[in-house]
Amino acid sequence: MAHIERFAPSPTGYLHLGHAFSALTAWEQTQAAGGTFLLRIEDNDHTRVRPEYEQAIFDDLHWLGLSWPTPVLRQSDNMVAYEHALSDLENLGLTYACGCTRRKIKEAQPRPVYGPDGLVYPGTCRDKRLNKAENTAIRLNMAKAIEHLGGKNQVNQLKFSDIDKGNVEHFLNAEHLLTSCGDIVLARRDIGTAYHLAVVVDDAAQNVTHVTRGQDLFEVTQIHRILQALLDLPTPMYRHHRLILDNNGKRLAKRDDSRAIRKYREEGATPQDIREMVGLSDR
Ligand code: GLU
Repeated sequence: MAHIERFAPSPTGYLHLGHAFSALTAWEQTQAAGGTFLLRIEDNDHTRVRPEYEQAIFDDLHWLGLSWPTPVLRQSDNMVAYEHALSDLENLGLTYACGCTRRKIKEAQPRPVYGPDGLVYPGTCRDKRLNKAENTAIRLNMAKAIEHLGGKNQVNQLKFSDIDKGNVEHFLNAEHLLTSCGDIVLARRDIGTAYHLAVVVDDAAQNVTHVTRGQDLFEVTQIHRILQALLDLPTPMYRHHRLILDNNGKRLAKRDDSRAIRKYREEGATPQDIREMVGLSDR
């Protein structure tokens, strides 16, 4: 079987050591398997992306010794594909328009619930039948989605493999999807798509067989898996790897420029130094 991996950063900040670890891990897997390493620019959130960050992604990854086929897929060039997938879900009757702001969502619940996808939507607009408009987001009706797939028992049979710690199969948990993920956003009001929808559409369109990404995204893979089932898309193998932490044991964030690859470059580090910093020196 062909082995196709992708590294899919969002140009919303400089790549840091955590990205280096992800990209190098995916690259090494691909090289070992004689496969293809793809770079994908996840720039659909035009409110946050900046051209200099995109350029820095190319520069930093080339500097680390990685290469990929061109042209690379940029999500902002691929909006039609996401619109089609959204229409498919709309035509199945599994979506609804939502006019709530984040503030309204928080205010609607005495104790806001947070899950792997952030604030869980309390369902305010679920039965309002709002028209789709510029100021509405489109949400997945998770209960209907589960029903569409044959109910909770059927959904609990859906699984994905994580090869980071052996080839472990993880089954979905319909109850968890309902209560901890809820009616996730498929298309943001200002964007027309959202991360979960775009990522499953792209992974399938690019025939990605292996997804290497941080452990912090492990929980949202349940969401990706149910979207794959709804859209009849294949499920790649996943590798949710350990996170690179800062000195306080916290996950690195893009705003934490002190760990940016380019900062280390400016200070004279070599690609081998970066490999050592992320624990890949022995390979
Ligand atoms: N664009 C996402 C990020 O930068 C990638 C997530 C993924 O690999 O699925 O976090």
